[in-house]
Amino acid sequence: MIVNKVYLMKKKNFEFSGISSLVLHAGTHNFSQSSHLPPIYATSTFTFDDSEQGMRRFSGKEEGYIYSRWGNPTFKVAEEIIAALESFHIKNKDGNALELKAFLHASGMAALSTLFQSNLKTGDAVLSHFSLYGGSHEYLHKVLVEDGIQPIIADLRDLNVAEDAIKQNKNIRLIHLETPANPTIQCVDIEAITQLAKKYNIVVSVDNTFATPYLQQPFKYDVDFVVHSTTKFLNGHGTAIGGILIGRDIEFMKTKGTKWHRLLGGNSNPFDAFLLINGIKTLELRMQRHCSNAIAVANFLQTHSAVEKVNYNGLESHPDYAVSKKQMKHPGAMLSFELKGGLHAGKKFIDNLQMCTRAVSLGTADTLISHPASMSHYGVTKEERLQFGITDGLIRMSVGLENIEDILNDLDNSLT
Ligand SMILES: *Cc1c(COP(=O)(O)O)cnc(C)c1O
Repeated sequence: MIVNKVYLMKKKNFEFSGISSLVLHAGTHNFSQSSHLPPIYATSTFTFDDSEQGMRRFSGKEEGYIYSRWGNPTFKVAEEIIAALESFHIKNKDGNALELKAFLHASGMAALSTLFQSNLKTGDAVLSHFSLYGGSHEYLHKVLVEDGIQPIIADLRDLNVAEDAIKQNKNIRLIHLETPANPTIQCVDIEAITQLAKKYNIVVSVDNTFATPYLQQPFKYDVDFVVHSTTKFLNGHGTAIGGILIGRDIEFMKTKGTKWHRLLGGNSNPFDAFLLINGIKTLELRMQRHCSNAIAVANFLQTHSAVEKVNYNGLESHPDYAVSKKQMKHPGAMLSFELKGGLHAGKKFIDNLQMCTRAVSLGTADTLISHPASMSHYGVTKEERLQFGITDGLIRMSVGLENIEDILNDLDNSLT
């Protein structure tokens, strides 16, 4: 292999001051043929020079790839970049830079699956908050239940409620947080919950999809795992489904984590990994624009006569305003709002839109708007929907990168 020697020699004697430099220059850049960008290693398997080398690779005595379900050089670039983002400027207990290990997956759900399956077994219980991503909620209540693992859902914004839940169930092994969370953008205090969890020897995982490591770094608060659906803001352009599991217990990640990741088979693929690596380069720039647009949208909606209520953690009226301010650099790009006219008003608003995109998902460059009552939750009974805060007139918005005047114009035209 011809290594890009010029690049390897480019050692620097200063630390990156921000994450744009980091995403553009983190990771191992010794690609063959002096390729500037990471090649798409579209190969299922890797060759050995001889049986001795095969033996060394399998026994772990020699670094190197074996089979793409186990690992692939294109995945590795994405894994290194995202681990670097999640650990950026964080020190461990010895004062050294925090070391993390990440596995790229086929989807956010695949990453969550490796997380849950490798940390829980029959008889265990998992504690989580009630406004989880739909797929995560179903995973806990359908898949894990059949494995004999009990999901316990509580309002983890209240520490007393959280501690009571822990005291009442000695089998809780994992607390899974998602903050901010769908659809009312609730935020849970990561630091407070993690301190509580440590007292009872419970592992903590955080789904950091809505925030991204630009806005929030859960490892600052000593959590054990972070998961992302990279499909969203990390890819940022809506071109690929993907997920990542990142852990701070390197020994666990190298042994059981690796084993479960490989055996559950939720590996990524080289092309989607490449799309992620390409998209993530502009993370900081995009997040800054996403966020400034979101605050303008929230302020606009808050005073609009057709709008009953705006759920945005950057508004002082939001119940989790203080928590979000404590742990996030900025409130983010996700918000929801309730229309005064209920179901009919919701459908009419959606149909009136001329620019913003009618779609579920989030974190793409363009603004995505959905009406859960007529879309994602159409088949769910009203009582069930209301438990999750999904009222008839609730609209969810992932604020995009368009020129803000145009977003506000489209909203204003559609609300009348
Ligand atoms: C989308 C999403 C997931 C699931 O990710 P996929 O990539 O669709 O599998 C999990 N958590 C959150 C918060 C999400 O938004």
